[in-house]
Amino acid sequence: MPSSEPSRYTFASDNCAGICPEAWEAMEKANRGFAPGYGDDEWTQKASDLIREVFETDCDVFFTFNGTAANSLSLASMCRSYHSVLCHEAAHIETDECGAPEFFTNGTKILLLPGENGRVFPPAIERMVRRRSDIHYPKPRVVSVTQPTELGTIYSPEELQAIAALCRDFDLRLHMDGARFANAVAALGVTPKEITWQAGVDVLCLGGAKNGLAVGEAVVFFHKDLAREFDFRCKQAGQLASKMRYLAAPWAGILENGAWLRHAAHANAMAAELARRISEIPKIEPAYPVQANAVFLHLPPETAADLRARGWGFYDFIGRGGESGPGLCRFMCSWDTSPEDVADLAGDMAECVASCRG
Ligand SMILES: *Cc1c(COP(=O)(O)O)cnc(C)c1O
Repeated sequence: MPSSEPSRYTFASDNCAGICPEAWEAMEKANRGFAPGYGDDEWTQKASDLIREVFETDCDVFFTFNGTAANSLSLASMCRSYHSVLCHEAAHIETDECGAPEFFTNGTKILLLPGENGRVFPPAIERMVRRRSDIHYPKPRVVSVTQPTELGTIYSPEELQAIAALCRDFDLRLHMDGARFANAVAALGVTPKEITWQAGVDVLCLGGAKNGLAVGEAVVFFHKDLAREFDFRCKQAGQLASKMRYLAAPWAGILENGAWLRHAAHANAMAAELARRISEIPKIEPAYPVQANAVFLHLPPETAADLRARGWGFYDFIGRGGESGPGLCRFMCSWDTSPEDVADLAGDMAECVASCRG
């Protein structure tokens, strides 16, 4: 089987897509003349105000370059070194951040929870918290949930409320990794507040890069005490943009006219369409419910190799160490994925499946 670098990155990840037109246009507008640095400019003010408007509350907003920093620094703002963070075993903070949460918290331990389809549930949280209360155990301080999860599934508002209620009982903070938060809002058809502060979320890491921005995530503190001195934390970690207007303006571009949700809804629709086409191919089916913009498949190794030989790039390591095993392949849709792209991929899958068996 010839193996080469993929040439088609359409489904490899949602960060393989380009910059959406609304973000691009805002960058162009921001690129006129001089403006103060380090966030004292009108674009940063505007983007922060728009986030407060979208969430319908007076939250504190900070812009970082990426999600690893957003997650790590926000967890650090809630934890001391002897604390612990509870999350799903497939969580990005555990599997894909190179130990940054432990590094920026100076040693906070991550405690892993099992859970169906990438989600954590109250009984598993309670079991982990109650396991020990002595001085030798890293004191549980935060529950971190990913919405949508790393496996493309979604927590309902009720599920989040139940987790938050448990957090209140045990004096835990609730952190949400929302790298694809827009996809969750679009899929659930809720307002952003219903799955964040109204449900009991204290801090949200709101994803931009996978929603059509060039770069950047926003850390949104609903619980303002937790944001104390967060600006210093960002600066120390190298996450304070000197030309902040370019990090902030694209947020204004996608938020002010609802593009962030339109793009997310489109990505979700493309994933649903891919899943529908796959349902017509014998012997392959989604490994998890397709609820947002990801489609996971257990592909026979020959089929996966065949698809790669046709140039398709896709990940097969997501969730490793969790409930997945070999052959789990991820196909991700973005704001820029077209119905023709979906038809192309599904057509090639059907041919590869047929020829592998033939
Ligand atoms: C992409 C992603 C992030 C952010 O990753 P960076 O590469 O650091 O920007 C965070 N959480 C999840 C679940 C992601 O998929």
